[in-house]
Amino acid sequence: AFQAQDLAPPDVQFDVTRRFLADNDDNKINLGQGTYRDENGRPWVLPSVKMAKASLDEFNHEYLPILGFQPFRDEASRLLYKGTRALNEDTIASCQSLSGSGALLLVTLALKKLQSAPDTIYITDPTWVNHHLMFSIIGYKVEILPCYRDGAFDFDAYTASLRQAKAGSPVVLHTCAHNPTGCDPTKEQWKLIGSIIKENKLFPIFDSAYLGFNSGSFDEDAWPIRYFMEVLSVELAVCLSMAKSMGLYGERIGLVSFATLARESSQIAESVLQSVQRSTITAPPAYGARVATAVLSTPSIREQWQKDLVTMSSRIRLMRKRAYEELVRLQTPGDWSCIINQTGMFAFLGISKTQIKHLERKHHIFMVETSRLSIAGLNEHNVRRFAEALDETVRH
Ligand code: PMP
Repeated sequence: AFQAQDLAPPDVQFDVTRRFLADNDDNKINLGQGTYRDENGRPWVLPSVKMAKASLDEFNHEYLPILGFQPFRDEASRLLYKGTRALNEDTIASCQSLSGSGALLLVTLALKKLQSAPDTIYITDPTWVNHHLMFSIIGYKVEILPCYRDGAFDFDAYTASLRQAKAGSPVVLHTCAHNPTGCDPTKEQWKLIGSIIKENKLFPIFDSAYLGFNSGSFDEDAWPIRYFMEVLSVELAVCLSMAKSMGLYGERIGLVSFATLARESSQIAESVLQSVQRSTITAPPAYGARVATAVLSTPSIREQWQKDLVTMSSRIRLMRKRAYEELVRLQTPGDWSCIINQTGMFAFLGISKTQIKHLERKHHIFMVETSRLSIAGLNEHNVRRFAEALDETVRH
């Protein structure tokens, strides 16, 4: 059964971590993996998550229902849709998912059932590698909308392509902290993007892996979703991941939801989510749902969580500033202001593949070949070395 196939290539992002781990240099730096690191370069268990874990009562290990842990679904929906009509009128369908990736899987499978077979899905170019991989394996024709030029969001190119998109098709939007470019639309630009989506009857899927993690305020980061719902009155889906915002990467905890305009629609949507969950993974894992629920439902822990979001987002912003200052100090050829202008976990440097290889071979600094670097991997102990290595590489 296997001889006729070539080996599937290793995943480009996970392969960077593999090479990093195999490197014996004491000063190696991993800027490949999109996971938060503290000021000493170590994984960070959020203080709020520690409190939540300690607060859990004894529990058994029965299956969760197919749609997941009801208290988690309720808390996460209230967090996401705070102050919206849909929340008040109970027109939201929700289902616990295997983090953000699982949410994208369920939403696209559900749309295939709900809509009269949309065959095309629109994603940004560039985007997170899983968008291509996942939607094509589900059987969508994946079309790209250019969104980046010269270190910034390319509004004109993006909206020009969006206007050509086929009516009824889903379009995947990065709610904030665009991966990999770190370039988000402004609020004014979001308003125009929303009106094109409404006019062309596209179906927005908000891929929301960085809410709260980006600015430190969940509500600020969720603004585009609530604007689309409240001002444009469009139906939409949200794929929420708790990986970054609670540091629960390995727990695989997320929520997929549809915000609809009628109770009947949300009931249908939820039944379809239940059916696609059953058809794929049966039921979601319980532990992360219990921890996240304790964070969200216990006032003192939730307060700590809000502080934790500020801790993570401000450390990342500080590292952007520090990296930029060092490059200015070294007078490194090129304009590096993109590092401070971009937002979220990543910076998109725009250096060549040869330069990226050089950084890895000579300086033991690892990043993915698109020139996306994870700012979270920088700290006061290594930011100067990173800037010096980049300087040497650019002048090489
Ligand atoms: N969407 C985007 C754009 C992402 O960057 C990520 C995290 N890398 C995700 C979704 C979801 O990741 P996870 O499945 O770990 O929640």
